[in-house]
Amino acid sequence: MTIAQKLSFDVQLSDHARTAAEREQVMANPGFGQVFTDHMITIDYTDGEGWHDARLRPYGPLSLDPATSVFHYGQELFEGLKAYRQGNGSIVAFRPYANAARFNRSAVRMAMPELPEETFVESLDLLVRTEQDWVPTTEGHSLYLRPFIIATQIGLGVNYPSRTYTYLVIASPAASYFAGGVKPVSVWLSTEYTRAAPGGTGAAKCGGNYAAAFVAQREAVEQGCDQVVWLDAHEHRYVEEMGGMNLFFVFGDKLVTPALTGTLLPGITRDSILALAADLGLETEERLISTDEWQAGCESGELTEVFACGTAAVVTPVGSVKGADRAWTVGDGTPGPVTMRVREELVGIQYGARPDTHNWIHKI
Ligand code: PMP
Repeated sequence: MTIAQKLSFDVQLSDHARTAAEREQVMANPGFGQVFTDHMITIDYTDGEGWHDARLRPYGPLSLDPATSVFHYGQELFEGLKAYRQGNGSIVAFRPYANAARFNRSAVRMAMPELPEETFVESLDLLVRTEQDWVPTTEGHSLYLRPFIIATQIGLGVNYPSRTYTYLVIASPAASYFAGGVKPVSVWLSTEYTRAAPGGTGAAKCGGNYAAAFVAQREAVEQGCDQVVWLDAHEHRYVEEMGGMNLFFVFGDKLVTPALTGTLLPGITRDSILALAADLGLETEERLISTDEWQAGCESGELTEVFACGTAAVVTPVGSVKGADRAWTVGDGTPGPVTMRVREELVGIQYGARPDTHNWIHKI
């Protein structure tokens, strides 16, 4: 249930916020998702009452009863987006309303309450404005924002969704997601495990999808690969997505990406690249693509590049592929020109070096 009410945030600033020197030290080498800023957002929800008690408060542990629903049945979902410091010093977010809309689509699938899009974006604006000194100035770095919602009802009854929830936003200064920078990744085709089946939760950004994926990601690493690539549940024949990123296949001047069948996450970066392609003179096609077509295309030279895309690592080339009984390289295994052009364009818009002709930039 969406309750269109205007919430006002109660602001309680931390009296132990880190000093400028402490912050600088942490931000010199932030890694990804390792350190968090001094404040967080919380908003509570109760059936019948709607959203209430919107707060900006000091970052810190939550105190939850061990019988709280989220610990047992995993009713949780999250989003991920970044605040960027542009060349002129201003701070912006990239398409936060698209994250708000996806958050609510995930909420519907998980029988959780929707949050008004304005409240979602307002909560990000308030946190980022409060933490503006945490938005890195180093090129390629950003402030990663993690909105999420957990079921907070106490009790082990499993017949009905929780009647109470808490929405939170935390923020973390981030360097590049893959430590090596723009370096091609190697991928493992997972034919033993399945991420999502028709009618399941594949298109929702719920924690359970990620919990179920760790075993396959670990298998990928054991196979000497960086990332797992998920295939369809039925035949393990069609490509769905990479661990936390969508995939694009470059056939000359055409970009092909797996269609949104309901079993993969509709990435905001994916959607942006589909829109940017026309600006770059590239055709696009959303359809099924099999691992056989991927291999044959690389072997014939028709499929010249493959890249993964997502908020955390933007655009990352895929250099080599390994499956249970086969392995091949994509192109010559190095980053291709189309991949780098798409990456440059997207990063350019995010950091203000390119005009924002699609109105994707939200000033904070
Ligand atoms: N697929 C999965 C499974 C993901 O977790 C993500 C990251 N949110 C993506 C794709 C890419 O989505 P986005 O471009 O919105 O970051």
